[in-house]
Amino acid sequence: MTPGVVIVGAGHAGARCAHALRQAGYAGSVTLLGDEGAEPYERPPLSKSFLLEDGRLAPIAPAASYAAAGIVLRPSARAIAIDPAARRVDLADGASIDYRHLVLATGSVARMPAFTGLEPGDVLALRNAADAARLRKVLRPGQRVLLIGGGFVGLEVAASATRLGCRVTVVEKQPRLLPRAVSAWAAERVLALHAGQGVEVRLGRAPVDIVRAGPAFRYVLDDGTQGEADVVLAGMGAMPDVALAERAGLAMNPPPVHGVLVDAACRTSAQGIHAIGDIAAPRDASGGCRIRLESWENAERQAARAAAAIVRAEQGDEPSPAEAAADEAPWFWTDQFDMNLQIVGWPAGATRYVAREAGAGKAVGFHFDAAGVLVGAELFNSGRDRRIVRQLVAAGRGVAAAELADPAVPLATALRNAQQRGPAAAPNDSRS
Ligand SMILES: Cc1cc2nc3c(=O)[nH]c(=O)nc-3n(C[C@H](O)[C@H](O)[C@H](O)COP(=O)(O)OP(=O)(O)OC[C@H]3O[C@@H](n4cnc5c(N)ncnc54)[C@H](O)[C@@H]3O)c2cc1C
Repeated sequence: MTPGVVIVGAGHAGARCAHALRQAGYAGSVTLLGDEGAEPYERPPLSKSFLLEDGRLAPIAPAASYAAAGIVLRPSARAIAIDPAARRVDLADGASIDYRHLVLATGSVARMPAFTGLEPGDVLALRNAADAARLRKVLRPGQRVLLIGGGFVGLEVAASATRLGCRVTVVEKQPRLLPRAVSAWAAERVLALHAGQGVEVRLGRAPVDIVRAGPAFRYVLDDGTQGEADVVLAGMGAMPDVALAERAGLAMNPPPVHGVLVDAACRTSAQGIHAIGDIAAPRDASGGCRIRLESWENAERQAARAAAAIVRAEQGDEPSPAEAAADEAPWFWTDQFDMNLQIVGWPAGATRYVAREAGAGKAVGFHFDAAGVLVGAELFNSGRDRRIVRQLVAAGRGVAAAELADPAVPLATALRNAQQRGPAAAPNDSRS
């Protein structure tokens, strides 16, 4: 077979990229290598409906669509090495595949705590279908669940476990929940939601010791508090799975924003190699990466971007590294209990906010930077407003905080006024 595109990682970004290549007219071979032994599936339901409902996986694309599109899906073909000079991928079974373009989409691995008294597997995590199936078995009514860390996935599991009748304790070492991802305003609401549903949230605390105690676990927190749990789960976030990329010598962004450095077309430092999804660390004007996204939409967007770049390269039309990508503000969501929280842009880094309260759990927080530019928004149970809120965040400067805070002023009016006012005007009546 003439070398074509090889995609390592049959997860969200990898599967989407394979299909996007065909949609963009790529006619060469496309091989999608996975290591989970399953067809690509959506991860967001794993912490939500998979645990609460039928335990069924939601496929990213119909099973037949791969063959129909001429995509060779190999779900049990783990890549173990890349030779960028030879343009070759070595597989765990001893075989190797030559490529013309390689797309790395290896996703993330869970960050795990280290306690000397525990065996591997004692602390559970949730990254993939196998983890979710394991968790589904143990989240039974009455079980005591200790969740280490209050990240998004962890809090989603806390909500699902509580709904399943478990007694959940969340221990978060930061003084508030989700400090890097959401504003203090949103974190307070999330905390109130969990506390109201009976989740015990211990902020500013961390476990210092966990040991097995028969079928259960005994733990000690850093304030001396002791407790017992039947299930211990890591909710400490994830790390990009960059082992292959590092061994291949690709340029990396160092921790804490660890990842494979890419340009706007998701191209890495090695000729013919792209990186997309959770592992990709987009280079900014400084030459490094300050923000790496781990979200569904980012996987979708980068998959399409890499596919387009590969098709252009085949046509001899290489985008320049500086070529700007017209990026919309990022968007991601989380579902916990009856709360749907959608985050647009960068609210966590803002200095001021106004809240638009619409009652019945519906609210939007609009976040401004020190210069009065609207940089992000957090929508509680207000998903219908997402489209216009994204437009407001895109408008940025000139959006009047007072109009946003007043539910009587339609958001469309606030947007129109901002567009008429232009970028010179800046709001100044938001709360710090
Ligand atoms: C439980 C959970 C809930 C989530 N909920 C939300 C949500 O509500 N909203 C949101 O915006 N985002 C959510 N996300 C995040 C989103 O799903 C991820 O950002 C997205 O899946 C990233 O896509 P990816 O392709 O980079 O990685 P993944 O989808 O993780 O896929 C990577 C794949 O590569 C495989 N792989 C790794 N190494 C190799 C190798 N050497 N050879 C072959 N295959 C390999 C892995 O096994 C995996 O199948 C959630 C994630 C999880 C885990």
